[in-house]
Amino acid sequence: MDHSKPPCEKIAAMSFVAGIREILARAEELEREGHHVIHLEIGRPDFDSPERAKRAAIRALEDGHVHYTDMSGTIELREAIAAKFKRDAGMIVDPKTEIIVTLGGGEALLTVMLTTLNDGDEVIVPTPFFPVYEEHIILAGGKLVKVPCKIENDFRPDPKDIERAITPKTRMILINTPNNPTGASSTREELEAIAEIAKKHDLYVLSDECYEYFAYDPKTPHISIASLPGMRERTFTISSSSKTFSMTGWRVGWIVAPPEMKKYLLKSHQAAGTCANTFAQYGVAEALLTCWDDVHRMIEHYRARRDIMVEHLSRIPGFEVPVPSGAFYIFPSIQRLKIGSFEFAERILEEHHVALTPGQPFGAPDGFLRLAYCRPEDEIGEAADRIEKFVKSL
Ligand code: PLP
Repeated sequence: MDHSKPPCEKIAAMSFVAGIREILARAEELEREGHHVIHLEIGRPDFDSPERAKRAAIRALEDGHVHYTDMSGTIELREAIAAKFKRDAGMIVDPKTEIIVTLGGGEALLTVMLTTLNDGDEVIVPTPFFPVYEEHIILAGGKLVKVPCKIENDFRPDPKDIERAITPKTRMILINTPNNPTGASSTREELEAIAEIAKKHDLYVLSDECYEYFAYDPKTPHISIASLPGMRERTFTISSSSKTFSMTGWRVGWIVAPPEMKKYLLKSHQAAGTCANTFAQYGVAEALLTCWDDVHRMIEHYRARRDIMVEHLSRIPGFEVPVPSGAFYIFPSIQRLKIGSFEFAERILEEHHVALTPGQPFGAPDGFLRLAYCRPEDEIGEAADRIEKFVKSL
């Protein structure tokens, strides 16, 4: 058998988030050599999962909840998701017909792509974007169409640019607010404009709301685009327990979709994984019902971390730092420095032991960095000091 080539064209077309993994691997090597590396390269919350959620999952195991659930998820979890939508988005969602529980937000995205795209269909994705979107779209046979977001607009997508990117092949607009990697959150007016475009051109909207609770700016509170007039019938809203409750390893997310879509989504969902982990679903239902104090406490830490990061980085000559209004990422420009993003990321890791990511894996041009501030406040300050020292040495 010839293993010198990738086994199929789709796999060959995927970048597998090149850049981030290499940095993580090198950072781990440095740690094994005894260096104190500050990790700002991975969007992984550093808090423990809420205690009550853990107890509920343990109870579920002890009570014998060890078999498959309904493919859509346990009804208790779907009811808890519906209650959250009613409280926070003012949306009445039917837990029986409009919610499917998935293996994290990742599987939710893949399931929507597999369900909606024909070969060659285009998905408009404001750029920079969460790199795995590209893998999902390729697996589903589609094509990712980038719409660059400008730093002058704090990386918020301009609806006019989205409309200009539409072709006869466009099937869907993907939005992610608050955004990974930029932390940008769209305003109500911008979401309304995107909604009008989707309706005018009869397109689906896939709204990735994994960072829905990470909204720091009262000018851009989180708004589910599905809650805007006429949008429910064309919107797939996905979210997850991963970031909100610091439960990335539990692998529980969800899709909220028009009831007519459920039977189609279930076909892809069955192929992708049948159902989410059963006892984890019990834990996530408990989190959604009782763990909001934990969420508020964590969000206050993220807000403080963001402020420390913005304040420190803004003082560094050559750094341009748009203030992120959500998520837990910051995406500064270093275009005024005479160093490329990959070289910056490699050298800051080798010389000062700060792991961060160049912007290119997120679809950005050279000259940007992504820093994930999911570390304790003192480490964030220390990382910023090390970055400043490095920049001064250039
Ligand atoms: N969407 C975005 C924008 C993300 O950043 C991530 C994870 O980093 C996901 C979706 C998937 O998260 P999960 O599968 O853990 O729910």
